[in-house]
Amino acid sequence: MSDLRSLYQEIILEHNKNPRNFRKMPEASRILEGYNPLCGDHYTLYLKIIDDTIADISFEGSGCAISKASASVMTTLLKGKTKTEAEKIFETFHSLVTGELKDVSFETLGKLGAFGGVSEFPARVKCASLAWHTMHNALDAKTDLVSTE
Ligand code: ZN
Repeated sequence: MSDLRSLYQEIILEHNKNPRNFRKMPEASRILEGYNPLCGDHYTLYLKIIDDTIADISFEGSGCAISKASASVMTTLLKGKTKTEAEKIFETFHSLVTGELKDVSFETLGKLGAFGGVSEFPARVKCASLAWHTMHNALDAKTDLVSTE
């Protein structure tokens, strides 16, 4: 278990240091901002939707390690997925960080599992969820700023 914990810790630190898909996307079909006033996490999410598929996804902005790593991991998981698949992954992530989903193996969750630990820290749940809620609203074609408060 402690091996898994340090693996998860490493995933968060590594994605925070080298966030994937961390760039503006001028040609995005949906652009949405997410803000977590409690921590100061503030990101802009870019989605390029073609037919029903997330053809490209990127983000920029700043915030704590958990919020940035979560956004980075999210972009790697959702690129190329259909909207329905993306919503399914969002649901899994949500039940993971709220503590409903427990003791699921790394084989099942992969990098997503790195965020399971935040369920013990309610304030951190908002950091980890910010990019995901922003993505969820962007898929719904909402345009208002997504705030965790
Ligand atoms: Zn944060």
